[in-house]
Amino acid sequence: MSDVTIVGLGAMGTALAETLLAQRLKVNVWNRSPEKAKPLIVKGANLSVDIASAISTSELVLISVLDYQAVKEILESATEALAGRTIVNLTNGTPSQVRDMAAWVEKCGGKYLDGGVMVTPELVGGPEAFVFYSGSLAVYKQHQKVLAMLGNPVYVGENFALAAIYDLALLSSMFGMFAGYIHAAALLRSENIPVTDVTPMIMSMLKAMIELFPQTAQEIDTGVYPQPSSNNTMMAAGLKNILDASREQGVQEDLIQPIWKLFQRASTSGLGNKDISALPLLLLRAKPIISPPQ
Ligand code: NAP
Repeated sequence: MSDVTIVGLGAMGTALAETLLAQRLKVNVWNRSPEKAKPLIVKGANLSVDIASAISTSELVLISVLDYQAVKEILESATEALAGRTIVNLTNGTPSQVRDMAAWVEKCGGKYLDGGVMVTPELVGGPEAFVFYSGSLAVYKQHQKVLAMLGNPVYVGENFALAAIYDLALLSSMFGMFAGYIHAAALLRSENIPVTDVTPMIMSMLKAMIELFPQTAQEIDTGVYPQPSSNNTMMAAGLKNILDASREQGVQEDLIQPIWKLFQRASTSGLGNKDISALPLLLLRAKPIISPPQ
């Protein structure tokens, strides 16, 4: 028996395996394309020839592949091996995909935890690494020691879907930031301004803005919005200038237009005198649950 089996040896699965090998664990691996296991075998990993024996070899099985369709195809070819195994699925997916997978694994007699690795492969196992987990606390505690080797484990609750929601919320913040930066870069290049020159100022401004998040979060959670210093109507006007300037400079407006539309909608729907903390109200289809002020 191995301590752990890693299913999927893409960039992330390989990093997970390398990290656990460095911790002197007995690591078993499986990948659709077995040649990717060669560097890991050199470092001491064992390669299973088929997925059923890969799962049978360890009580703890970590999966990191492209998507849930791949997870489904892989596990459905080894259903009988799942009984008594703990599947920790670190593949990115949606809440409904997670719930369906958890129910199916449990029906096959296995235990299930969902997870989301919140760093790039090269940072796995390092001090900045953290990984969300959700599912049974007892199952999580049983494997916490090994999971902690991958990065700080953040257990977010028994509801299987929680890790995916936390993961996707963090990714959403990241991609929103990238979208703004990509647009900024195109705008700068339209006037032949080196992006390298301006990037330190962008970083400085974003760092200052990020400091506002805890206050913004509290306003979102409580639904209590103090008088803002930067109101939505003013910001909609500023965004319109970014939109118009982009058109003038020949920069496509696709990235910035939805943000302008949201602020515009705020200013025409009674939220013009609030700030960004009121905007999630416009995105939520169902009425938000407001927590009482702390
Ligand atoms: P990747 O390098 O593209 O590797 C994809 C893996 O999925 C490979 O092992 C590939 O097998 C396997 N795969 C794809 N389709 C398959 C199928 N139909 N059947 C069996 N195996 C299949 O991706 P990655 O970066 O390792 O990402 C894996 C997961 O980690 C994703 O859910 C991703 O969101 C998450 N993640 C990645 C990062 C990152 O920065 N890379 C960060 C955090 C989380 P083959 O080798 O045979 O093609």
